[in-house]
Amino acid sequence: MSFWYIAHDDELLLDLDDYMRPTKTGCPWGEAFFRRRLRNAIAAGKLNVSEVWLVRSNSEHHFHAILKVKDFRNHQDLQSRIAKLTWQLHLGSDLYRGRADLMRAVRGFPSASLLIRNEVIPDFYRGPDAQCPCTEKHDTQKQFDLGENACPIWRSVRGMSPWELFGPSSKKSEMFIPLPTGRVPLQLIMTKIESED
Ligand SMILES: [Zn+2]
Repeated sequence: MSFWYIAHDDELLLDLDDYMRPTKTGCPWGEAFFRRRLRNAIAAGKLNVSEVWLVRSNSEHHFHAILKVKDFRNHQDLQSRIAKLTWQLHLGSDLYRGRADLMRAVRGFPSASLLIRNEVIPDFYRGPDAQCPCTEKHDTQKQFDLGENACPIWRSVRGMSPWELFGPSSKKSEMFIPLPTGRVPLQLIMTKIESED
């Protein structure tokens, strides 16, 4: 069983990959981009936060944070959705997910910030928004390939996949292509030389 928590209009939901990975100053990612930026935003009166919840995801050192905020309560317009997605990115949430959600929002597709767990969040102030019988991770490619047979919750909240929004990413190892400064030939941008490993 999977339990889905979908950010309500008065919640920010952050995906904090590898909390302890060092930033360029050596400070842990979660400390620099989540705790300190959140503290500064609250202290400056930019974000009105009443509760902060940190929950472990299935992978080690990977957390989700749910912030209860008063700023966007009852706001479902596009500007508010984009402002919330921007706050999530500012507070250290995963860039890969965030940029796809921003583009989905701009294109009018569902851009729900969500958390999928195999158990409910203990002592949380509300229950999950949906549940599905899936026991495996909702892999985007697999779900996409299932088409009509994909998980119905995934289909209703996910909208377009990242490769539909941005083009497919290449997974094979490639040679490094150095670029000149000044006008860069498009031919160099388009070059792809796959390496052996
Ligand atoms: Zn499912």
